[in-house]
Amino acid sequence: MTASHVNSWYAASLDGELAFPTLNQELTVDVCVIGAGLAGLTTARELANAGKSVALLEGKRIAWAASGRNGGFVLPGYALGQSSIERKVGKLQADQLYGLSVEGADYVRDTISSLQRDDIIQGHGYLSLLRHSDDRAFREEAEKDPDVAFLDRAAVQELARSDRYKAGLLEPTGFHIHPLRYAQALAGSAASSGAQIFEKSFVSQLQKPGAKWICRTSKGSVHADQVVLTTSAYGGPHNRLERSVLPVATYVITSEHLGECLDDAIRFGGCLSDTRRAGDYYRITGQGDDRRLLWGGRITTRRSEPMKLAEMLKQDILDIYPQLRDFKVDYAWSGLMGYATHKMPLIGEMEPGLWVGTAFGGHGLNTTAMAGKVISRAITQGDEDWKMFQPYDFNWNGGVVGQVATQLEYWRLQALDWWEER
Ligand SMILES: Cc1cc2nc3c(=O)[nH]c(=O)nc-3n(C[C@H](O)[C@H](O)[C@H](O)COP(=O)(O)OP(=O)(O)OC[C@H]3O[C@@H](n4cnc5c(N)ncnc54)[C@H](O)[C@@H]3O)c2cc1C
Repeated sequence: MTASHVNSWYAASLDGELAFPTLNQELTVDVCVIGAGLAGLTTARELANAGKSVALLEGKRIAWAASGRNGGFVLPGYALGQSSIERKVGKLQADQLYGLSVEGADYVRDTISSLQRDDIIQGHGYLSLLRHSDDRAFREEAEKDPDVAFLDRAAVQELARSDRYKAGLLEPTGFHIHPLRYAQALAGSAASSGAQIFEKSFVSQLQKPGAKWICRTSKGSVHADQVVLTTSAYGGPHNRLERSVLPVATYVITSEHLGECLDDAIRFGGCLSDTRRAGDYYRITGQGDDRRLLWGGRITTRRSEPMKLAEMLKQDILDIYPQLRDFKVDYAWSGLMGYATHKMPLIGEMEPGLWVGTAFGGHGLNTTAMAGKVISRAITQGDEDWKMFQPYDFNWNGGVVGQVATQLEYWRLQALDWWEER
């Protein structure tokens, strides 16, 4: 594996890239953060802003993994649905957890605004799309919340011009970003607050022989009072954590510049996704002479990329928008998400001084930001919000058996979707 970014539209449209050195010394800091995706970057930035000395060690490049490859939707909530959370922890705690997820989405918006990076947010609002005709849940949702609008078939097809869609729910919250630019901006900000960031510095060993933790890479080591593991689907240097996170792959493609042709299909500039259990999500990216369709979908527990990835997702698009038949796919890539078996993030103190912020699944843009804040507040102020995640503990992911079970579950859900749409 190389340490450069995957060949994505995000990497191609990055204007200038920060580079950080490889760790080749012995360093002593208050906190060492391992893994520089959005969770690690936010944690390091927050800790540095609170006056801690911080080292952030990344095995590849910052945001090399899911954080620099995702669909860019920033929406509140978790990979696990709110009603399931409520059933497990009760209404009050479920509401508090939801509030934390909103805090995460606000953090992303506010950080982008405070860093004056208007080029990162690329669209506002969220349109949820129904592919079958039972629209009761959508109508009830709109009745409960005056900010949410129910769209009937005609109204939804004005915005998403496909006869696949039978109804829509339009929400003002939610926006979409260029995630690699955001990660770069976070890294720049963390570094200027004093965080020491190292790339190509894979931590192969984590030990606590005395009072301090030691994080060893091939060329150096960091001694720290506290360690935060933000290593997601890549497991990291801790066996129990590695066994708790199941890697799940998903795919994204980006069309060539389509300009005004896109208006024949999509007349909504925010986030779009359908409600199927194994659904599609997409958005229009860029402007002017770089206006493209960015489309994500499908999951698998196989790590290898399908040979005809671009063709496969293009067929998914044409099934919905046949009017786009002539378009060319410029970029196709995959990425790994980390899931715990309960689909909630793993946030907390695993052992004294060893913190974890991981397993954000396909809902990581708000939750990585939230976890960074929650963990940094715990370390610097003794804040206890992280304890709200205790009902969602570390479970074994089932290894190969777990991966097969996840794949079978995905196929079962796809079959259910097909059945409902007949
Ligand atoms: C294709 C795709 C589309 C998605 N779309 C969305 C979306 O639209 N909205 C949304 O909210 N979420 C989305 N997600 C999910 C979201 O991207 C992730 O939940 C989030 O980015 C996870 O961030 P992270 O920091 O936990 O992990 P990652 O971004 O995976 O970062 C972990 C980092 O740790 C490093 N690392 C691991 N082990 C070590 C070690 N031992 N030493 C040093 N470094 C190490 C890795 O190299 C990696 O850079 C999507 C994910 C994918 C893959």
